Amino acid sequence: MSLLMFENQSAPPPGFVWLVGAGPGAADLITVRGIRALQQAEVVLHDDLAGRELLNYCPPKTEFIYVGKRAGGHSASQDEINWLLVSHAQAGRRVVRLKGGDPSVFGRLGEELQALRVAQISFEVVPGITAACAAAAAAGISLTQRGIASAAILATGHECAEKTGPSLDWEKLARPGTTLCVYMGTRRLGELAGRLVAQGHSPHTPLLIISNASLPTQIIRTGTLETATELAADAEGTPSLILVGEIAAQNRALLAVHHRPERTHVAV
Ligand code: SAH
Repeated sequence: MSLLMFENQSAPPPGFVWLVGAGPGAADLITVRGIRALQQAEVVLHDDLAGRELLNYCPPKTEFIYVGKRAGGHSASQDEINWLLVSHAQAGRRVVRLKGGDPSVFGRLGEELQALRVAQISFEVVPGITAACAAAAAAGISLTQRGIASAAILATGHECAEKTGPSLDWEKLARPGTTLCVYMGTRRLGELAGRLVAQGHSPHTPLLIISNASLPTQIIRTGTLETATELAADAEGTPSLILVGEIAAQNRALLAVHHRPERTHVAV
């Protein structure tokens, strides 16, 4: 029996929303449950990082609504996305909101759930593989490891200068024994690395930048806080996850025996 056959599963009522994590990009890294949701979708709201091939799982009549931020084009505001979710569900449709990675990690899930709760629409969140996990897998390292890292922190590198509310205390976050996983961080990595070094972190602290994790275009860049600016400039414009901490050094030891030799590794 195929893993994707779930005869005993009852269909959800009309007017239902699934918030599905598509995983990091490779089409076969979505969950089986995510595929099942797509197979029942009448409307799919999708954005850039959610693999396009996944839309092939949908029935022929499914309506696809692109709500991403394609370069140069109009991108839907969060209010518009909330409105689309609610209005399609209120019209009795089964809606999938397909998001890159995991919906609960820097994915505006909170706002969308709030809109659904206010409108009293039934929903299910289907988790996905978040970029930090895909990046660690690509690099052949463990985000936590006995004796090296007893915590992993998911942080955004996007808010450094822009945010008005409380901002991240990077110095406290990047402590020994911690793996710092920075999303949306390439543009400000130089600034971040400088702050960490100014606070006493060794400039030799290892870091990895994994771009397009899980895709054939994946690139793993290895460096240190000292070489961060150069590395980040190279990676800018491509979805990239930065891993900072002692665990990143494990990647070097593993390069020689990496199980996917076709992947590109760049060391600076
Ligand atoms: N919800 C997503 C994150 C969205 S924020 C998740 O759970 O992964 C977008 C950021 O995620 C990108 O700027 C990048 O930092 C990271 N990202 C997403 N896909 C990635 C990939 N395939 N490889 C590396 N980083 C990725």
